[in-house]
Amino acid sequence: MTEDTKNAASSPSGDPWLLTPGPLTTSLSVKQAMLHDYGSRDATFIELNARILERLVAIVNGAGSHVSVPLQGSGTFAVEAMIGNFVPADGKLLILINGAYGKRIAKICDYYRRSYQVQESPEDVPVDTVELDATLDADAEIGHVVVVHCETTSGILNPVAEVAQIVARHGRRLLIDSMSAFGALPLDAREIEFDAVVASSNKCLEGAPGMGFCVARQSALEQTEGNSPSLVLDLYDQWRALQKNRQWRFTPPTHVLLAFDQALSEFEEEGGVAGRGGRYRENCDLLVAGMRNMGFKTLLPDELQAPIIITFHMPTNPEFDFDAFYDGLKQLGYVIYPGKLTVADSFRMGCIGRLGTGQIQGALDAVAGLLQQFGIDKISNE
Ligand SMILES: *Cc1c(COP(=O)(O)O)cnc(C)c1O
Repeated sequence: MTEDTKNAASSPSGDPWLLTPGPLTTSLSVKQAMLHDYGSRDATFIELNARILERLVAIVNGAGSHVSVPLQGSGTFAVEAMIGNFVPADGKLLILINGAYGKRIAKICDYYRRSYQVQESPEDVPVDTVELDATLDADAEIGHVVVVHCETTSGILNPVAEVAQIVARHGRRLLIDSMSAFGALPLDAREIEFDAVVASSNKCLEGAPGMGFCVARQSALEQTEGNSPSLVLDLYDQWRALQKNRQWRFTPPTHVLLAFDQALSEFEEEGGVAGRGGRYRENCDLLVAGMRNMGFKTLLPDELQAPIIITFHMPTNPEFDFDAFYDGLKQLGYVIYPGKLTVADSFRMGCIGRLGTGQIQGALDAVAGLLQQFGIDKISNE
């Protein structure tokens, strides 16, 4: 990299800061943890594996009742595995949708030919618990309900605790995609009844991308034998293999696991969910206040906004060109993300990953500088 192509701001590894929904900025120590080659049968590696699985269960306070099962691949692999394992071939799934990740679950059901029904809300509205109650009353065939904890499409927080109460009251089973919330927003297995929750190594836990995991109620997981239509995504089989010889069934992503173990230590040092979520909340508050100060408008009111990723309306000033804005920010050392909404033209800025208020302030200063460069005095949202 020559001096003039180098990003103005950069992480300790010389990369731009990622204000995105993932992959995310990781600490230098997490990246350095990967500088080893372990065989999958190495005793140190096997210990590390067991330690990771225990720590994941502890994050939801599930010791004694819940177990965790790791899986190679990105987060969607874990979502697909959860659906394929927990919804039996003759079952029926109710999918609560208010964004792209909920829709993706419906697509998974199409591939697996699982019977499902959707209950859809607009992307800027939380899933409707009154309607959920009525739907479960009306349809006894629905055995499982799935909800997305934080819908990363907009950044909206869904009322998972209320959903869980309703599902439990009807005697049905709850599945949760907590990919972008796990580790940053509370999810306590002693308070929220669920059969399975899935997340990945790289979002709020700040490890390297490359593996997902499922934390499941053991008694529910035990009933899933033979359900999975996929060999590689068979969580039950993976769990049994790990119990039997403490090993993954197929080549484990050793480097990703080394990084994940380090990331979990840093997570615990930061104070677990309260500490991690607290830092993201500070990031989010500063980002929202700073952007509003310049005239940008958030899609969501504050009470619906999860401190994960923020959707901003695309300014309508003719001088505002998103590609130039994106490229300009990248050059200044901050990577943002295009919008994924169907309800409005938008862009997103994340506040998760190894970022603090220093980086958020840096990004705000970069935005202000670019607006000046574009000749925009006042952001227009009309
Ligand atoms: C990131 C994410 C996923 C999984 O995405 P991958 O790109 O497969 O890692 C699933 N659900 C939600 C809510 C997410 O934010």
